[in-house]
Amino acid sequence: MLTHSLEETWSEFLRLMKERCSRVEYANWIAPIQLSTESDTAALLVPNVFVREYLLDNYREELCTFFGSLKKGEPDLQFVVQELKQEQPKVISKPRPRIEKVPVEQEMKLNENYTFDHFIEGPSNQFIKSACLGVASKPGKSYNPLFIHGGVGLGKTHLLHAIGHVLKSQHKKLRFQCITTEGFINDLVFHLRNKSVDKMKKYFRNLDVLLVDDIQFLQNRLNFEEEFCNTFETLINQNKQIVITSDKPPGQLKLSERMIARMEWGLVAHIGMPDVETRVAILQHKAEQKGFKLSNHIAFYIAEHIFNNVRQLEGAVNRLGAYCRLMHLEATEEVVDNTLGEMFQSTPQKRVSVDRILTSVSSMFNVSESDLRGSKRSKDIATARQIAMYLAKELIGESLTKIASAFGGKKHSTLLHAWKKVSKELENNERLRRQIQMTRQNIEA
Ligand code: ADP
Ligand code: MG
Repeated sequence: MLTHSLEETWSEFLRLMKERCSRVEYANWIAPIQLSTESDTAALLVPNVFVREYLLDNYREELCTFFGSLKKGEPDLQFVVQELKQEQPKVISKPRPRIEKVPVEQEMKLNENYTFDHFIEGPSNQFIKSACLGVASKPGKSYNPLFIHGGVGLGKTHLLHAIGHVLKSQHKKLRFQCITTEGFINDLVFHLRNKSVDKMKKYFRNLDVLLVDDIQFLQNRLNFEEEFCNTFETLINQNKQIVITSDKPPGQLKLSERMIARMEWGLVAHIGMPDVETRVAILQHKAEQKGFKLSNHIAFYIAEHIFNNVRQLEGAVNRLGAYCRLMHLEATEEVVDNTLGEMFQSTPQKRVSVDRILTSVSSMFNVSESDLRGSKRSKDIATARQIAMYLAKELIGESLTKIASAFGGKKHSTLLHAWKKVSKELENNERLRRQIQMTRQNIEA
């Protein structure tokens, strides 16, 4: 870069933005930016921090391409926030209705179906469910913060709301808030605009319990992260309960070290895909809620074909139920194929195999694959084997019996024992947590 003058670079960037953005987007976000020509390094004058956030969130790479980048993939650019100097002409016009978003402290919607009663437990989520129950019955006294991570549609939001329901009914005096990270950010934006950030700070820092959904949306949003982190620290220092959900474990989030360290203070727990038996139970529970009868056989048939996320299972019940009701049909395998066949295909079987897990664990822990399958009991081998079993149970949505037998014909109780032992160990062993995380990334790569 910089064979061009800054002005030329900037106008080329604008040209690209015109192609990329919708007209409204361009007018709202890009057009108000001005290039400062006061120095040799590029500086953009932005009307407020949100324009900067927007640019960095959406066009970081492009900015780097045009303006060059610093070490950490940051564009070599300065942002100068400045109030628009131009006064709005004081024309007499009808007062515009203020489009006001209600700040979050006045509203909180808990999904009424997301209760502990409606949460079906199985080996993949038993532990996390009991941790959530513990937090709900004695907030601030068991695991704090509680950090729940796992893929899409596995019940994280459900559990968060379930805690909320218990707090609402059993701890009436406690002040709590259940909020999405987007909600927190919107709220902050609202208060910044209304110059009432102090009010928001006071509200959040006076809570007894804070439930935050989808913290991954705080990534790359530095200003918001700092405010969130301050709130977090204030609460946790007073033993106020915090529960956070995320699609990744703390160490994999692109957040500040400080924030990651805070989140790892308490219990970090993973929620995995339920095994096939639990999926059957979930299907039947959802069908029952909808007043639709699903035989064991058919529930099994569906559960065997849908294994990626629970939301899809729910979608399958809804679709099948509606179809059978409309057509006055019984749900048979044929009917299922006709109505859900395309859902089955849309879940490509990117299954993790026991072999894959053994290969990764073997190289990570320096133990041979045959030892992992075998029954030697020396400490290193036994530990690595238990870790492989733990991972297999977490990552493979098959019955425990089937998984255990792939470990050289072990029993399902052995696998369950190994899983429990490793899960327990993970509560306090940071090193193990990182090792398992790395192995897992390797397996899933
Ligand atoms: P996430 O927040 O992890 O993406 P959700 O909590 O939104 O997932 O769950 C997706 C859907 O699946 C919800 O309707 C929820 O009720 C349902 N669900 C997930 N896990 C379970 C479970 N173990 N038992 C019953 N329903 C579940
Ligand atoms: Mg969710």
